[in-house]
Amino acid sequence: MMRDKRFTIALNLLQNLVRAKSVTPPGDVSDSTNVVTNFLKSSGINFDIVEGKPGVKNVVAKLKGSKKSNNDTPLCLVMNGHIDTVPAGEGWEKQPFSGEFIDGEVWGRGSVDMKGGITAMLLALSEIKDEGSPFCGEIIFTAVGDEEYHSQWGTKYLLANGLNGDFAINAEPTNLEFCLGNRGLLMVDIDIYGKASHGGRPHLGDNAVEKAAKIINAINEMDFTEPSNSYFEVQNGSLSVVGIKGGSRENVIPDLCTIYLDRRLMPGDSSDKAVKDILSLIKDTVGVDADINDRKNSSIVVKPEFWHEPCWTEVEHPFIQNCIDVYDSKFGRNPEISGKAAGTDASHLVSIGKMPTLIFGPGNYNLSHTNKERIKFEQVLKAADFYKDLIKKVLHD
Ligand SMILES: [Zn+2]
Repeated sequence: MMRDKRFTIALNLLQNLVRAKSVTPPGDVSDSTNVVTNFLKSSGINFDIVEGKPGVKNVVAKLKGSKKSNNDTPLCLVMNGHIDTVPAGEGWEKQPFSGEFIDGEVWGRGSVDMKGGITAMLLALSEIKDEGSPFCGEIIFTAVGDEEYHSQWGTKYLLANGLNGDFAINAEPTNLEFCLGNRGLLMVDIDIYGKASHGGRPHLGDNAVEKAAKIINAINEMDFTEPSNSYFEVQNGSLSVVGIKGGSRENVIPDLCTIYLDRRLMPGDSSDKAVKDILSLIKDTVGVDADINDRKNSSIVVKPEFWHEPCWTEVEHPFIQNCIDVYDSKFGRNPEISGKAAGTDASHLVSIGKMPTLIFGPGNYNLSHTNKERIKFEQVLKAADFYKDLIKKVLHD
């Protein structure tokens, strides 16, 4: 492969990002943030650091177009990606933070998820700046931390502090195809209280584990088979029991059992309704009106924690139609369209920021979080080209 100047600049950037460890937990992304801001400085692009919590240093860069807009309020495109990664884990055949370049691929934790996407966005920004920023309105580029946990101090923090735009692109790996949304995730813990007694006198107690078992059986009978969005890899919601803890020792009837639930939501599903469904299942199964979060009167306490809402931007949305046009003229065909089974920051861009959002980025998402994580470097350059064309198309006069 020919290594021109562009190739070398982008390869160095991606390798430096992979080498700048930014693992969540604990979530300190300072080293990666420095790589991003050094690149922005050398490109002459202004930025701020917005530190959600110590170490979660989010970068917010702004680039204004040089063309005059006919709109009273010029349009704004948000470009978003995360710079934190999951831990390296075991069993690598290459050093996970070396950023080695072998046979056209950059290896290492974060290469796919998603320092490749960050590299593509930065390259696009610096090149479009060099061209004289031939667009109207503004681009806000955000490279955030905390995505591999709850996003509370990353994208959600920026949205809570005024990040806004007319539309957004998230650069999670999609193998250069389109992804228009993801399922939502609601974690629910249920504390089921009973009454302890001697194991030899079970009739004097109230067995919390046995009540939990009834609830688990009822959960298994819930029906989630109705597909609700055919673009998704997994086309329906689900409710899974992912953990159970109960009992203190042998020969004591247990007075507490906790079950842990993982509820996946499809676009259109509401997290409020998902919680209500769990409350009525408990009522129907064991005849108890459960409390939410705090134990007041009830013997069952339901503790919901929203990780991310489901999201979906319709194919027919004018922004997505523009994205498809750009894709077609670049790649000579329509993109494949899908929805992700796992969550992304697109959830927050859509549900909190109310922005129609395209998820598009380089890299094979099946390699994310694995010990074989590596990215075809050519995809990074192609993604950058697509971003540049998309900027010019959607930020027009
Ligand atoms: Zn990711």
